[in-house]
Amino acid sequence: MILDSKVPAGPLESKWENHKFNMKLVNPANKRKYTIIMVGSGLAGGSAAASLAELGYNVKCFCYQDSPRRAHSIAAQGGINAAKNYQNDGDSVMRLFYDTVKGGDFRSREANVYRLAEVSVNIIDQCVAQGVPFAREYGGQLANRSFGGAQVSRTFYARGQTGQQLLIGAYQALERQIGLGKVQMYTRSEMLDLVVIDGKARGIVTRDMVTGKIESHAGDAVVLGTGGYGNVFYLSTNAKGCNVTAAWRAHKRGALFANPCFTQIHPTCIPVAGDHQSKLTLMSESLRNDGRIWVPQKAGDNRAPGAIPEGERDYYLERKYPSFGNLSPRDISSRAAKEVCDEGRGVGPGGLGVYLDFADAIKRLGESVIRERYGNLFEMYERITGENPYQVPMRIYPAVHYTMGGLWVDYNLMSNLEGLHVIGEANFSDHGANRLGASALMQGLADGYFVLPYTISNYIAETKPQTIGTDHPAFKQVEQEVAERTNKLLAINGTRTVDSFHKELGKIMWDYCGMARNDAGLRKALELIPPLREAFWRDVKVSGVNADLNQELEKAGRVADFMEFAELMCHDALMRTESCGGHFRTESQTEEGEALRDDENFAYVAAWEYTGVGNPPVMHKEELEFEYVHLGQRSYK
Ligand SMILES: Cc1cc2nc3c(=O)[nH]c(=O)nc-3n(C[C@H](O)[C@H](O)[C@H](O)COP(=O)(O)OP(=O)(O)OC[C@H]3O[C@@H](n4cnc5c(N)ncnc54)[C@H](O)[C@@H]3O)c2cc1C
Repeated sequence: MILDSKVPAGPLESKWENHKFNMKLVNPANKRKYTIIMVGSGLAGGSAAASLAELGYNVKCFCYQDSPRRAHSIAAQGGINAAKNYQNDGDSVMRLFYDTVKGGDFRSREANVYRLAEVSVNIIDQCVAQGVPFAREYGGQLANRSFGGAQVSRTFYARGQTGQQLLIGAYQALERQIGLGKVQMYTRSEMLDLVVIDGKARGIVTRDMVTGKIESHAGDAVVLGTGGYGNVFYLSTNAKGCNVTAAWRAHKRGALFANPCFTQIHPTCIPVAGDHQSKLTLMSESLRNDGRIWVPQKAGDNRAPGAIPEGERDYYLERKYPSFGNLSPRDISSRAAKEVCDEGRGVGPGGLGVYLDFADAIKRLGESVIRERYGNLFEMYERITGENPYQVPMRIYPAVHYTMGGLWVDYNLMSNLEGLHVIGEANFSDHGANRLGASALMQGLADGYFVLPYTISNYIAETKPQTIGTDHPAFKQVEQEVAERTNKLLAINGTRTVDSFHKELGKIMWDYCGMARNDAGLRKALELIPPLREAFWRDVKVSGVNADLNQELEKAGRVADFMEFAELMCHDALMRTESCGGHFRTESQTEEGEALRDDENFAYVAAWEYTGVGNPPVMHKEELEFEYVHLGQRSYK
């Protein structure tokens, strides 16, 4: 299979502009003849659904929550990047592009990243016009703060609730189109399969989560904006519902899955407190603007933090990476935290924690300034841990947070399956092996508001309105398969809960495909997963019935997909014997313990083809070329 990225020719700076001009348009009167299926109504899906309906297409939009407003995007705390250079501190489109390619450890496509940086400025204008209440300076200008991997302040924010405010903006735009009848919204509706006819994505099959009814929907194009798969690890900062199902079912129908092993472990999360925990909580990276990270210099020093004098503390990020200090990128900061904990210098129960200390900032700026900047995050921390972070340092530890891998897409955000487009966290496209903070919201909204509306129109312009309806045998066949799978899950009636299987899978993934990976561990995971999957299908107990709201059944379907997907992640991680970004192979490190890339052998996107459950997947390569950012060892010193 030849993977054509369809990156337009010409200089980097004018690729997108020229491409927009060269792409075909659809006559306004013809747009209403086309139906686009949008799965997902988070920042990516919601913004795209609203924009496409605004253009005149008929949109059918699906989400599994009871309202688009509950998409996981609502959890995003810290902010959204844009190259506005309001601070006059040297930012530019080129610099945002450069930081993102370097931050991603040179495993993303230059042309996509440049376009992302280019449209970042439009996103802020669009959101402000919608009324998103970004923080402002005294004089009215939008305020900025810094995020990891950057030496400029380019992150726009609304306290620690940026995702929520952006989502309300996109949701309003979506609601307007629902009101106008251009978007038909299907809440509590889970896509359980993709229908492909003659190599083209023609529609989806869904299950109504309240009644259990299986339904088909046909369209001229299908778009997945279904988010990330971090919950394969069971414990993560993602909402409990986040899953891989839509992407995985599309993969099983032929869509290639790219770089599935690229997982982001976020350095600042509340440490795991016990065995019964089902969720981890992020403490936004924005806190690292003012918080200083440290551990005691001596291993086993268990004095209270206030009793450890300055001279006996190790501000290890400031020491190791003086240029970026506490704002070093996430992969680097996470590994550094693991390293000091492995040396026995971790703090808190079990020694798996480091301090994030605001004492200096409070002394310098006053408590009221810190409260204004991070009040809700401090409150959340205190509610969860019972400790007051204005008085004692926060304790933090890395946790699974984001997935850079996803379905493979070309420059037009179309997968290798004609008609199937993928946006937001669900695609693999822009973050390489490590996403920089505040770049996911930027990418989701870039895809939804500013890229897909152009590229999908170009696709539609070349396609005659769909004549295939849901009475086509292919739809009936997939409906039957979906129903059979659901019934099978209910009929097992075994002895173990869905969660117990999920937890066991998560532990395998964390131990062998987590923050550090090696050949032996990954092979071990590949031995452990198939019998666990088999046990799941033999012994899981899914209580309740199909024709009712049944969360056990929903979870079971998602965990069944994680059981298959986990194996693909391990194959990908095993094949990539280099370290890069979030993928740290212990066999491949520099003398100083930093990730050691192997550009000669691995400067490519690994796009995997499905060959059946338990069968080794087949890899296809998209070679990456770096014309503008020269490949080099990343340095944040
Ligand atoms: C705690 C936390 C804080 C974060 N903070 C930031 C931040 O400050 N800045 C930043 O840039 N990024 C941040 N991120 C990352 C960012 O929030 C996400 O990457 C981004 O919001 C994903 O948006 P999305 O639209 O792609 O997916 P989501 O918001 O996850 O939306 C997915 C949508 O797909 C639907 N869906 C999924 N599967 C199906 C299915 N099978 N059938 C039907 N519908 C389905 C869901 O219902 C939902 O509507 C944070 C992430 C977390 C976990």
